[in-house]
Amino acid sequence: MEMTPDYLVKQCKSLNARLIEWRRLLHRIPEVGLELPETEAAVRSVLEELDVPLQESYRGVGLVAVLEGGKPSGRTVAVRADMDALAVEEEPGREYGSTHPGLMHACGHDAHVAIALGAACFFSQHRQRLPGRVKFIFQPAEESMGGAQRMLEAGALEDPRADYLLGLHIGDIWPEVGLGQVGVSFKPMMAAADAFEFTMEAVGGHGAAPHRSPDPVLAACSAVVQIHTLTGRDIDPLEPAVVTVGQVEGGSACNIIPAEVHARGTVRTFNETTRKLIESRLAEVVAHTAGSFRCRHRFAYHRGTHPVRSDPSVAGLVRQAATDLLGPEGVRLIERPALTGEDVSIFLKEVPGCFFALGASNPEKDRVSLHHSPVFDIDESVLWKGAAVFCLSALRLLGDSASGRAG
Ligand SMILES: [Zn+2]
Ligand SMILES: [Zn+2]
Repeated sequence: MEMTPDYLVKQCKSLNARLIEWRRLLHRIPEVGLELPETEAAVRSVLEELDVPLQESYRGVGLVAVLEGGKPSGRTVAVRADMDALAVEEEPGREYGSTHPGLMHACGHDAHVAIALGAACFFSQHRQRLPGRVKFIFQPAEESMGGAQRMLEAGALEDPRADYLLGLHIGDIWPEVGLGQVGVSFKPMMAAADAFEFTMEAVGGHGAAPHRSPDPVLAACSAVVQIHTLTGRDIDPLEPAVVTVGQVEGGSACNIIPAEVHARGTVRTFNETTRKLIESRLAEVVAHTAGSFRCRHRFAYHRGTHPVRSDPSVAGLVRQAATDLLGPEGVRLIERPALTGEDVSIFLKEVPGCFFALGASNPEKDRVSLHHSPVFDIDESVLWKGAAVFCLSALRLLGDSASGRAG
């Protein structure tokens, strides 16, 4: 049987029940950060069942598996799935709900893993017809950031070297991508996500004698207000940028001027000039505000991920593959970027690839993809589409002629 788009649709649809099973298995055992022992054990056991071996040379965080095709082409396509969850208490009542108190797959990464396993399943059943190799990268710590960087440094893209990389995000991040549609972008589609923190310091004192001790609370509050004027006054109004202070900590009682107050924030940008400008203006605003309140200060800026941007030619190939599978009405062009960050950008900086969206929000079924919320859920009937797009795109990138277009 030739691996035509119609054949892939039929095969991947028939896998959907297994994809749902895997997604629910992972949904019950959410874990956060770099170490995901139960999640990894579950993924390992499915890979074993599918006879897709782990890459022996890989010794870093997460899991890397390589499926060797029966028709060598010398090319390798990587499929990346993030596996981590969030510190969110899931709304009770779901039969497949989290069994880990305080933790939840509230961003759909459980579905990403299930979809990648679906692609692994298809390719393991069609191994003899696969030209080249498919490498599966199961990554921890996407939400907390740092997972992709750690995997890159540990050699996840090497041995064999990935020539291309594919990844997806399920849910409802880009509103133009409706239920069951695939969204592809030729522009930056997610932002660079950086973090900053500052501390205002003085000596501490009595709340009834404010003239005798500089006030870090007032200095920090004033700095927070000033910081939020940067996007309105320092940045070109046509340039998207967000600065948010999400955390302020300090003080122990209503009548004590504390010795220090600590604040943390995030910066989202799409270009390097804006990013640098915000970094330097933040440092100035914090320093000058501290000075004006007679406080000392500390400031640090932590660079995070790059903007997420697909390689235009790979994005074009994925768009065509999705169109051949789902028809033109099943594919949307993402025009408006999201200000969320994604560390798949670390991989996409190294290897040409495509990150695409799969719309899965379905209010009619009470499956609303409100990311990072306790009610987040997805319409699982669309999972197979992600696997089909991975498979057809990978086949074409690997140069399979029967699948429609050579890569
Ligand atoms: Zn998320
Ligand atoms: Zn996510």
